Amino acid sequence: MVISNETVNENKLKQATEIVTGLQNELKDYITKGHGPFLAAVYDENGKLIAKTANSVINETCSNNHAEMNVIKAAEKVLGTYDLSPYNLSLYVTSEPCMMCLGGIMWSGIKAVYYGVPSKRVEEITGFDEGFKPDWFNEFKERGITVYGNIAQEIGEAVLYDYVEQGNTVYKPER
Ligand SMILES: [Zn+2]
Repeated sequence: MVISNETVNENKLKQATEIVTGLQNELKDYITKGHGPFLAAVYDENGKLIAKTANSVINETCSNNHAEMNVIKAAEKVLGTYDLSPYNLSLYVTSEPCMMCLGGIMWSGIKAVYYGVPSKRVEEITGFDEGFKPDWFNEFKERGITVYGNIAQEIGEAVLYDYVEQGNTVYKPER
């Protein structure tokens, strides 16, 4: 079931469902090219795509290269700014942002986040560590960032199940 930190706006949800579903389908191709199983895109308020990037932790050997961090860097490069807040941009991503990406989103000036699979399910299906995230829906609301979660969740979960079944790498530091 979709969750949000505002009263659910059916138009936003409809558009987000289309975009997130599209990202889940595209993600399969990125995985076969060696990317991690997460894909993010940034759109402006007119529905124009600004940037789209997948997780590249393994193929670019950098633990910070989550899809959301990559797409924020790409969008800032496209627009030539370190502050996206004047652009009223939305970030769409195939799974819930981890604790690092929540920070990255806050410092970027992104105004809305729409994600597919919730972190708990990502951890259960894959074994990836998503970190601790105390009450981030309310924290983002206070910062003027809209959040919608669990969008087209079943489609996203199927992609993650495939990632694991195909024997792809689940990376995390040892404890
Ligand atoms: Zn992340």
